Amino acid sequence: MPLGESGGEGTATVSEVRTWSSGDYTRVAIYLSHWVGWHKLELAPEGDRPRRLALDLRPAQLDGKAVERAVAGDQVDRVRAAQNGPNTVRVVLDLPGDDKVQLFTLDDPPRLIVDVGTHAAIHQAIAGATRAAEPAPAPGPGPAAPAGKAGPSAGEGELGPIRRIVVDAGHGGHDPGAIGPTRVREKDVTLAIARRLARKLEAEGFQVVLTRRDDRFLALEERTALANTARGDLFVSVHANAHPRRVRAGVETYFLNVADDRYAARLAARENGLDAEDGPSEVARILSDLDAKASADSSRRLAQLVQREVCAGVRSRVGDVKDLGVKSALFYVLLGARMPAVLVETGFISNRAEERRLGSARYQDEVASGITRAVTQFARGDARVAAAR
Ligand SMILES: [Zn+2]
Repeated sequence: MPLGESGGEGTATVSEVRTWSSGDYTRVAIYLSHWVGWHKLELAPEGDRPRRLALDLRPAQLDGKAVERAVAGDQVDRVRAAQNGPNTVRVVLDLPGDDKVQLFTLDDPPRLIVDVGTHAAIHQAIAGATRAAEPAPAPGPGPAAPAGKAGPSAGEGELGPIRRIVVDAGHGGHDPGAIGPTRVREKDVTLAIARRLARKLEAEGFQVVLTRRDDRFLALEERTALANTARGDLFVSVHANAHPRRVRAGVETYFLNVADDRYAARLAARENGLDAEDGPSEVARILSDLDAKASADSSRRLAQLVQREVCAGVRSRVGDVKDLGVKSALFYVLLGARMPAVLVETGFISNRAEERRLGSARYQDEVASGITRAVTQFARGDARVAAAR
């Protein structure tokens, strides 16, 4: 929407500005009552004023007094939000360094998300994991390494640079997710699986960050902000599927991409809390600007491992399950995650038999075991590459 327009809804209220930060990453979120036109200005340093990013929103009013807040971390010194003329709210970020800035929007409630900074270490980990997925290069013409004098090699048991896993239990609080025919709620299933998954990953030597440990609501941007500020190496979001046709059943694993078929678009709409008609075109446009693409290959590989291990485990110890494969879709919860990220649909809660399974400790445990094996295999592949460098 062009600056000055409101789609007929009039002046928007800018209700809140939130920030999250760690040593090398800061996220700023600006919350609005409804969408109005906005634009971004980059202001060069002048005098003792650093480089600044200004976001103008019009027609808009700030809810309450102007905000000026110091921000922890090195990327953003401070954030200010103030009325700049009768109809314009200006939000300014002071950027002392030359960190990369990325901007995207989320709906319901409307908010602008600004990510500043990069994780060099994580990008290396992603690069390593990506290389591990490629065939080994043919031996070059250089001198062969003397037998028996190879450097220290990573054994099968070493985990390498993938150490910290962010486990995201979908939905929570006032958002129950999908609800099954006998009222099993997705938010309870995802939390139960996430807790089991956390215990199993810790037993394998990983550090685990749970985005939620109890029945609480977390906005999508909080989930990835948590993952990014915790410097997670992998992000695994746990969900349960639903479909109006109750015969639909099976397990599928997603990695982030622009929705590319109607079913994926509808599913993404549901998980994103949108109507299916709300096209992802705006986000798709912004997506092309995000780091998500850099880790798409690693995310795809992790998704393939998760899908394979979950289906194999369920088949051998619970019963048959339909393998719906690995797919890509535009999941907002994965958008802005600066690490390989996947979303597992662990079964159809809308299907009576699978609803019963999803509510059972045995099935939850088997799914958690499958994801744990997948993460461990992914991490070991990465360790071998790290040792070979
Ligand atoms: Zn869900």
